[in-house]
Amino acid sequence: MIQQANPGAGYRALQAQIDAAVARVLASGWYVLGQEGRAFEAEFAAWLGLPHVIGCGNGTDAIALALRGLGIGAGQAVVTVSHTAVATVAAIEMAGATPLLVDIDPVHYTMDPDALRRVLEDPPPGLPPIGAVVVVHLYGQPADLDRIVPLCREHRVALIEDCAQAHGARLHERRAGTFGDAATFSFYPTKNLGALGDGGAVAVADAGLAERIAALRQYGWHKQYISDEVGVNSRLDELQAAILRVKLAHLDSQNARRRAIAAAYSAALAAGPLVAPRIRDGAESVFHLYVARSKQRDAVQAQLREAGIGTGIHYPVPVHLQPAYAGRVAIGPGGCPETEAASREILSLPLYAELTDEQVQAVCAGLRGL
Ligand SMILES: *Cc1c(COP(=O)(O)O)cnc(C)c1O
Repeated sequence: MIQQANPGAGYRALQAQIDAAVARVLASGWYVLGQEGRAFEAEFAAWLGLPHVIGCGNGTDAIALALRGLGIGAGQAVVTVSHTAVATVAAIEMAGATPLLVDIDPVHYTMDPDALRRVLEDPPPGLPPIGAVVVVHLYGQPADLDRIVPLCREHRVALIEDCAQAHGARLHERRAGTFGDAATFSFYPTKNLGALGDGGAVAVADAGLAERIAALRQYGWHKQYISDEVGVNSRLDELQAAILRVKLAHLDSQNARRRAIAAAYSAALAAGPLVAPRIRDGAESVFHLYVARSKQRDAVQAQLREAGIGTGIHYPVPVHLQPAYAGRVAIGPGGCPETEAASREILSLPLYAELTDEQVQAVCAGLRGL
């Protein structure tokens, strides 16, 4: 079976370098917030093109820390999408804020700017004022920032870019994560830049904001043992930082490999029942996931499984319909019909940089046989 994702292959491809990095950390005697973490933060900042990166425990914490750093919390609503990892919405509630979920554009699966405009111009009654937008660059492609950035500026709300699926994506030659007030990343093992455990980071341009977020990730300490405000414990450990330094050096070439595999799939899908994903004009996707679409999704998935091709569904149940959120979380006027339709029709094909040419050809043959 060709797996949909394969973090073990990612380790094996760089095993000698990763093992050496791990041995170096083990021998150093320093395991949390040390020189590996600082070096990774500096290298990731340089790669991204922002001056400040703050490592943290995971991508969910990164969103919550960014919100708190920007002063967003209780008594404020935060707009995001329902078609995302539940983590995005969980993080908004962790920060103490009230999520407001809007629909997606059905072609690119990212936030519908018109749905955002409607809630900014005419906020749903009974909600606290909107303080921020968390835009999700889903599946590896930037959301419609050409429209979303000006809307946030016009309405004076903060913009956080959830880049957990978009390490290295570009819009008009500019990296996703450099458009808003803060960018958040996850280094969960299956992400484009994946640790061998949990990890995350916040990236910002503003030095004061960076200092506040760095304090919040460790009990609110600006100075050791003195909490100036209530913080949390969400640190990136030295082992993960050292592993991420190895992997960061290969990220751009691995993203290019993902794009090449995606192009092969799209060519194979041209005539079949699965509709290939579309990339926005001016955007370069890093194809965290290759998500095709079909009204016969479940039958197609079964047929591919028979052919030895593993697939996934990201995500099968929109956040606003999940038991923990249904009937409780606020949604924009008109609801989220495109989100609900997409969740019934989407299918993620195998995609990771270490897929061999033979495996890619086998998937393409399976797609042509649909
Ligand atoms: C993975 C992911 C997160 C959460 O990251 P964790 O490291 O698992 O906490 C947040 N948002 C999106 C869009 C993700 O894909």
